[in-house]
Amino acid sequence: MYRARSWGDAEWKSVEQRVPITWTACHFGGHRPWFVCSIHSSGRYCGRRVAVLYLADKLFACRRCYGLAYASQREALYFRDVDKAQKIRMRLGGSTVMSERFPDKPKGMHWRTYDRLRHRHDLAERRSMMGLMRFIEWRDQRAGGRH
Ligand SMILES: [Zn+2]
Repeated sequence: MYRARSWGDAEWKSVEQRVPITWTACHFGGHRPWFVCSIHSSGRYCGRRVAVLYLADKLFACRRCYGLAYASQREALYFRDVDKAQKIRMRLGGSTVMSERFPDKPKGMHWRTYDRLRHRHDLAERRSMMGLMRFIEWRDQRAGGRH
């Protein structure tokens, strides 16, 4: 249960959404939780198992449903790169919070694999930052009109 407000809306609205959680076994032991995307998009129940849900309009949805709701290609590109970086963090046992320190090498993983993942993560993170800046510029241009 939370309160949400769309861009330009003055009023906050109460929203209640049930998000199922499912568990799978991890490669390095233990179990990992996943969200199940529980919204209907294009008239069909999604049901995808995902690590990250985005706030699409007033409901949380997977990247794909979010992409369908928000047709902006630039925004979608930004999320694709963030998604990539977040997946690498989760694979290393970290959380998806990008402001947190990059996770340490898990026991049993080769340094070479770890270094490769870290490199891939850094590239995706840098690309996502550039994508975000471009998206903000594009959005501001649209919002502000031409002078
Ligand atoms: Zn979905």
